[in-house]
Amino acid sequence: MTDNKICDGRVVIVTGAGRGIGRAHALAFAAAGAKVVVNDLGAELDGAPSPDSPAAQVVEEIKALGGEAVVNGDDVSDWEGARRLIQTAVDAFGRLDVLVNNAGIVRDRMLVNLGEDEWDAVIKVHLKGHFAPMRHAAEYWRNEAKAGRTPEARIINTSSGAGLLGSVGQGNYAAAKSGIAGLTLTAAAEFARYGITVNAIAPAARTRMTETVFVDMMAAPEEGFDAMAPENVSPLVVWLGSADSAGVTGRMFEVEGGKVTVADGWRHGASIDRGARWEPAELGPVVRDLLSKATTPEPVYGA
Ligand code: NAD
Repeated sequence: MTDNKICDGRVVIVTGAGRGIGRAHALAFAAAGAKVVVNDLGAELDGAPSPDSPAAQVVEEIKALGGEAVVNGDDVSDWEGARRLIQTAVDAFGRLDVLVNNAGIVRDRMLVNLGEDEWDAVIKVHLKGHFAPMRHAAEYWRNEAKAGRTPEARIINTSSGAGLLGSVGQGNYAAAKSGIAGLTLTAAAEFARYGITVNAIAPAARTRMTETVFVDMMAAPEEGFDAMAPENVSPLVVWLGSADSAGVTGRMFEVEGGKVTVADGWRHGASIDRGARWEPAELGPVVRDLLSKATTPEPVYGA
């Protein structure tokens, strides 16, 4: 028997939870017994302001299902906004256990045409939008640990296959997502002493961010398992947010449909050491042999 209320009583912040994958996370945490802070400033896909308030709708959905949730409309990439976001959880529910960094935007363009504003906006929302809430949450948890309370705290970040393998037309986004992978490893190492685990996911799902990209792949099937539904990404995130995931930290998980992959592309792979300097011309067959043993897929580049 599985424990459906695996996060019973835990207090969870999900950023960018008004739509797509974040909305699925918020609903899944609530179904697992968590109290949820639903953050979303209601941005357009490119980050431009919009009159929508999708976070409020998600809070209503959670309440209609008998759960507990509150809205936060702060910009996660704003330093004081991120501080207020963490405080929202403490004010509303008395504590914080889990931070899911998920908010994101895209401004896709080939690097040769990419504008400074497009670079800055995407790096800010993703990279600073991960760091700022993480920084304020970590300070809160460090104070909890100093006060003798064991936090069992969790941070789950959102990277992307683009950050692990690159993605044509998404140089700004891929750079931000690679940055999130590095940030996750560093945070996992630094925060272990406070009882905080830090992991990241690289999801794939049908949302407004992807529905026009992989049109065929993304279409919902008429029957059977809808592998691209955003709800498929959330169970792993809910488990990572639970006390049951203790000891799992500094990991990147690729999640799509019912498939979960531990990404090892950012770790030491096949290696060779002959204890002496190589000649450049010797390295061709040596490197090709190492690559043939690598577990990460070969990158595929288009025209
Ligand atoms: P989405 O556009 O449906 O949802 C993103 C949400 O973030 C939106 O509701 C938006 O209003 C909110 N947001 C944007 N900027 C914000 C800010 N500064 N502060 C607060 N909220 C903000 O997109 P999605 O596909 O659900 O993406 C969720 C995350 O998953 C993103 O980090 C994205 O990069 C990542 N991701 C998605 C896929 C996929 O297949 N959909 C693949 C890889 C990574």
